[in-house]
Amino acid sequence: MASLPEAEERPEFRFGEGRISGVLSVFLGALCVLAVLCFRYPELLTTPELRAVLPLDLVRVVLFCANALALLFGALCFALGGQRRLAFTGIALAALAVGLGGSWVETPESVESARYVGVDWFVLDLLVLALVFLPLERFLALHPRQYVFRRGWRTDLAHFFVSHLLVQLTVLLTLSPAKLLLSGVVDPDFQARVAALPLAVQFVLALVLADLFQYAAHRAMHTVPALWRFHAIHHSSTCMDWLAGSRLHLVDIVITRAMSFLPLFALGVDDTALTAYLVFVSFQAVWIHANLRTRIGPLRWLLASPEFHHWHHSAEKEAVDRNFAVHLPWLDRLFGTAYLPDRWPERYGIEGDPVPESWPAQLVWPFRG
Ligand SMILES: [Zn+2]
Ligand SMILES: [Zn+2]
Repeated sequence: MASLPEAEERPEFRFGEGRISGVLSVFLGALCVLAVLCFRYPELLTTPELRAVLPLDLVRVVLFCANALALLFGALCFALGGQRRLAFTGIALAALAVGLGGSWVETPESVESARYVGVDWFVLDLLVLALVFLPLERFLALHPRQYVFRRGWRTDLAHFFVSHLLVQLTVLLTLSPAKLLLSGVVDPDFQARVAALPLAVQFVLALVLADLFQYAAHRAMHTVPALWRFHAIHHSSTCMDWLAGSRLHLVDIVITRAMSFLPLFALGVDDTALTAYLVFVSFQAVWIHANLRTRIGPLRWLLASPEFHHWHHSAEKEAVDRNFAVHLPWLDRLFGTAYLPDRWPERYGIEGDPVPESWPAQLVWPFRG
């Protein structure tokens, strides 16, 4: 548990020092290397779902621009006398991406893969979220003095990386309980009637039922000691930002998602509504953790927002075991677990800071007695 970082004396980034360009160079250079590797080894490093929908010509254009920018920012960092280690690493990564084939890299014509890791999903999601949330957190920061590279960012990035890489495994484990429990139980005619409902109705149905089941799973995570050890990893964050929500133990991810998927598969929501729900959920999950002072007025009881979920992460006594809903705060009002005063929390985390800091230590911690 830590107080909010309001006492930092020196800003993290200042124009003209070369640090911004150095960080951008390393970030883009690393993503370019991973993207080129995805083109070279799609059977191992890419997900069939993304392969089916990504416009590869556009991806190559983006890759070309990112590679050029990585080189340019690296050179700019050198020119500004910024941290030479950053400039050198960024330029080396960009050069490596070019050496591996760059945006002209050849890719196999047809791809079949039984086992894969979601490197493409990691690159795409990290790039999109960083592009959306880093500027937002700059201009609408709840804690303006909180660093981008604040305490624990490496751990959160490691969680983000691994959960994206293991997407095949987690989806399989997430869907298995629904398939196992529901096969032969649900009436196909009922499912066909649900799938024929207007898309907006199916979307709202999915949101309400998934969050109801998710509420139950989340509350159990806080109540049952053996489950809490897994969920405590998520609550060990002492800083809230767009990356903090990624701090989730793999067991926590599988249990919570498996529960929220159960009603969706029982209902037989159609694929478009399911995709809309998944896109909405993935953005909302990032938004509610973000370092944003955005408030949504009276809608705050309708839809979970940063102020609602920040209180779930608060270390203040009155807020412990409150606000379990992820999408719909009125569920907490309904069940008497809501806590949303007219101010922001003063500190986040768990009393006593019991959870270790590094990713490997967090992975094994819940299994230790
Ligand atoms: Zn929780
Ligand atoms: Zn959270």
